Amino acid sequence: MITALAGGVGAARMLRGMIEVVPPTDITAIVNTGDDTVLHGLHISPDLDTVVYTLADAINLDTGWGLAGETWRVMESLGRLGGVTWFNLGDQDLATHCYRTQRLYEGATLGMVTGELARAWGVEVDVVPVTDDPLRTRLQLVDGPEVGFQEYFVKMRHDVAVSGVRFEGAEQARPGPGVLEAIVRAETIVVCPSNPVVSIGPLLAVPGVLEQLQNRRERIIGVSPIIAGAALKGPADRLLREMGFESSVVGVARWYASWMGTLVIDESDAPSAADVEAEGVRCVVVPTIMSSVARSAALSRTVLDAVG
Ligand code: GDP
Ligand code: CA
Repeated sequence: MITALAGGVGAARMLRGMIEVVPPTDITAIVNTGDDTVLHGLHISPDLDTVVYTLADAINLDTGWGLAGETWRVMESLGRLGGVTWFNLGDQDLATHCYRTQRLYEGATLGMVTGELARAWGVEVDVVPVTDDPLRTRLQLVDGPEVGFQEYFVKMRHDVAVSGVRFEGAEQARPGPGVLEAIVRAETIVVCPSNPVVSIGPLLAVPGVLEQLQNRRERIIGVSPIIAGAALKGPADRLLREMGFESSVVGVARWYASWMGTLVIDESDAPSAADVEAEGVRCVVVPTIMSSVARSAALSRTVLDAVG
């Protein structure tokens, strides 16, 4: 059994390759819910949806989020009404949020609903929210108030300085059913190339998760989301710096060193391998840009072989 720790796009790409090399029913993906938000009265779980849509080959490959062949008529109508339109929700995608919201209203847990959505899409990976309880990433702006994750990420296009990040609700949150077991029992735990601060950070903030990971250090292998000093997309590089870490594979190694035994870095970062190992983290150097399913599958094979 393989357990993956996952954010959105980077993790989804990794998992899409992984199901080419191991049976999907052998994989549990523990997914970030700190990005979740409520808009138009609907519960939206962007990272869960990105993982499910990507595994179903239904994702919009140009953006990495949302459904392929999407239309936007509801958003156009909302705009005419003066409604909230800064967060784009496609017409078909809205069905997911309607379904999730209705099921939560009926008393289903987020984990149950995620399982139902995954089954409806034919996804055989066990996609599990890290917690069924409310967990909300909040960012303190240097020149402004504290804002919710989507306000920072989408509305402000993450183009603002941040002085702190916290995960509201984390202390009271319980790990979702099966989450700790998946960490305890996995042969290998893969930390996908996700934002270390705001995608993997929320998972670690749920009580019990970090403690269990620390017990599995030798079986944990991560893929660096930072390549040649920068994120491929998004604010991972900037947030690492703002949290006092270098925006480099060495910074990533330092961020994870207390519980990660091995870090996979991109071939372009080969000169930094010794510095990664100086952080006490074993280093593997391979191409890590997942520009196709085949490349992602090759990366998954390397990752799984590296820990035996
Ligand atoms: P989200 O999609 O906004 O939830 O963001 P993620 O948590 O998935 O993190 C995005 C991170 O994934 C960025 O730092 C990217 O650099 C990284 N990423 C995306 N695609 C790839 C890839 O093909 N290879 C590697 N190594 N990292 C990637
Ligand atoms: Ca995300």
